[in-house]
Amino acid sequence: MTESNKDHSLFWSPAVAKLQPYVPGEQPKTTARLIKLNTNESPYPPSPKAQAVLQEEGLAAHLRLYPDPESTQLRETIAAQFDLSPEQVFVGNGSDEVLAHAFYSFFQRPEPLLYPDITYSFYPVYCQFYGIESQKLPLRDDFSIAVEDFAIDNAGGVIIPNPNAPTGRYLPLAEIEKLLQLHPERVVVIDEAYIDFGGESAVALIDRYPNLLVIHTLSKSHALAGLRLGYAMGQAHLIEGLNRAKNSFNSYPIDGIAQKVATAAIADREWLADNCAKVIATREWTCSELTEIGFDIVPSTANFIFAKPQKISAEDLFNALRERNIIVRYFNKPRISEYLRISIGTDEEMQALVAACREVL
Ligand code: PMP
Repeated sequence: MTESNKDHSLFWSPAVAKLQPYVPGEQPKTTARLIKLNTNESPYPPSPKAQAVLQEEGLAAHLRLYPDPESTQLRETIAAQFDLSPEQVFVGNGSDEVLAHAFYSFFQRPEPLLYPDITYSFYPVYCQFYGIESQKLPLRDDFSIAVEDFAIDNAGGVIIPNPNAPTGRYLPLAEIEKLLQLHPERVVVIDEAYIDFGGESAVALIDRYPNLLVIHTLSKSHALAGLRLGYAMGQAHLIEGLNRAKNSFNSYPIDGIAQKVATAAIADREWLADNCAKVIATREWTCSELTEIGFDIVPSTANFIFAKPQKISAEDLFNALRERNIIVRYFNKPRISEYLRISIGTDEEMQALVAACREVL
């Protein structure tokens, strides 16, 4: 008999045995009676134009063919929205896949990759996966990023989410520009998963900075987390680097249906603006209510808030909300273990959250 279980198998290569994979937020099998505020999804369905694509005749029959490996129409549509050329756009199966290719393509170097100590927890996972050294730079006490702390000689690259996750704090474009100037010979990735909820995109800087790569996702503001579509924008030489990695791994990461739905979603700018405005209004209402009942709230430019209850531990509140069928995200990690990350739901869902917090506190 061989010794093998969930955590160990004789058959694994040593590299796999050492991995510490990313653990996504809980996706319950049924959300029927649940208020799900734990993974920053949109509370509203996607653009009707994106939904209409799925009703098109012949859509399923078309699946006998491989999809366009270059997602040409989708890349053209993205490029048009941002005043870029299609050669400046790369698409992937969720922005997580785009990030993975970026880590592989730009950050495998002898020098360490720089990122904040509190940030998207997939970054250290990709570092381990690709054997990339990293140096974590502490956020200030108010969870802001101090760009001068990134002035480190011999860095292998820089990655930050803007706004940051899970704090929701936004870094103004002038600061992003300083970051780009600090490391002109290394790639600086700005992960803008949440940029549509009030921030200004760094896309406008692409022409002037050959080291800038901006990454977006349809999972949040476009309400298409289930579609799995993310994209990167940068000068053509960076996009070609990503293509080399992608075409050495999977020629067809974006299925034919996803290409069509994403194209329709991205073209519908009006829907995007309306959806974000609704989420922002609900976020501001939630922040003022929670402040009133005794939370410290980090200023958010995202579709979630990072909030610290003053009168109870974050973990106890997390459990009390769970008992009331409300799930939020709790990170049992240094510096942030007294905070909860709460995704913005519908008005009704946030009213229920506030009422539950009032009851518990
Ligand atoms: N970047 C950040 C900062 C995120 O929070 C997320 C969502 N977990 C992602 C990227 C990945 O999103 P997706 O793969 O759904 O595009």
